[in-house]
Amino acid sequence: MYVSADMEGIAGIVSRDQLIPGERLYDEGRDLLTDEVNAMVDALVSAGVDEIVVKDAHYAGLNLRLNRLHKAARYCLGPGRGADRFAGLDETFDGAILLGYHARAGTPRAIRDHTMTSLNWQSVSLGEQEVGEIGLDALMFGLTGVPVILVTGDDKACAEAREQLGEAVSTLETKRAHGRHAGVIKAPKAVYDEYPTVVKEAIAARSRLRPYTIPGPYTLTIRYTSTDLVDALYIDSERDSRVDGRTVRYTDVNLSRLLARAL
Ligand SMILES: [Zn+2]
Repeated sequence: MYVSADMEGIAGIVSRDQLIPGERLYDEGRDLLTDEVNAMVDALVSAGVDEIVVKDAHYAGLNLRLNRLHKAARYCLGPGRGADRFAGLDETFDGAILLGYHARAGTPRAIRDHTMTSLNWQSVSLGEQEVGEIGLDALMFGLTGVPVILVTGDDKACAEAREQLGEAVSTLETKRAHGRHAGVIKAPKAVYDEYPTVVKEAIAARSRLRPYTIPGPYTLTIRYTSTDLVDALYIDSERDSRVDGRTVRYTDVNLSRLLARAL
C-alpha cells in the first residue's frame, strides 16, 4: 500500500501556523501528522498489509518526526515534483491512500483549500473541470495502474473525493470545516480509533475500484496568481499556450508527460 500523507486534512489541523516550517504551531502540526501516520500504518498492519510506503507529501517533504515513526513502514522524504512526485511507486502496489488531504482551490468553507500551492496557483482545470490534488494525485497513481482506495481529510475533501473518484472510494472525515481556518474537530485520538475499521472496509471494497484515468487528449489549464510567474516560464508553443497574462494551457496526448511538464 502506498500512503501519500499531506497535512492540511490531518486531525486537529485548522491553521496555517500548524503547517509552515518556522511558524509558531508547526511543531504541533508535525506531532499530529506523525501520530496520524502511525495510526494509519498500525491499521494497515492489522489488516494484513505486508508492504507499506508512506510519502511525506507536504511542503518540502520533511515534516514527519523520524524517531517516532512506526517501524512497519518505509518512508519517502524530500520534495518530489512532476514525474518524481511519488518516489518508489510502481505497478506492484495494490492500492493508494491519500491521508490528510484537502479540497481544491476555491472550495467554500474548506480548511486550507488550495491546489499544489496557494502562493502561486489560483486554480487548475483538466479539460473543462476544475481539479485539485485529490484528482491530480489519483491520476498519478492511476497512470501507474494503482487505484486510490481511501481518502481522509475534512468534510469538503471527503465530498470532493467521492465526486471525483466515485462513491466506491472510502473516506474518513477528520473534522468538519466551517471556514478556511475554522472547523469543529474530532479529538485526534478519536480519529485514530476509526482507522482500523475504515482501512479494513477500504481494502474489502478494492475490487470495485479501478485505477483512476480519464480519456485523452488532455488539456490542463493553470491560472497562476501573478503575471511574473508566467513570464518566468518557458512555454513550448507547439503544445502549450499563454491564454492571458496569468493563465497557461498545457496540452498533450500523453498524460504523464503533461503532468511532468506542468506540475
Ligand atoms: Zn500540504
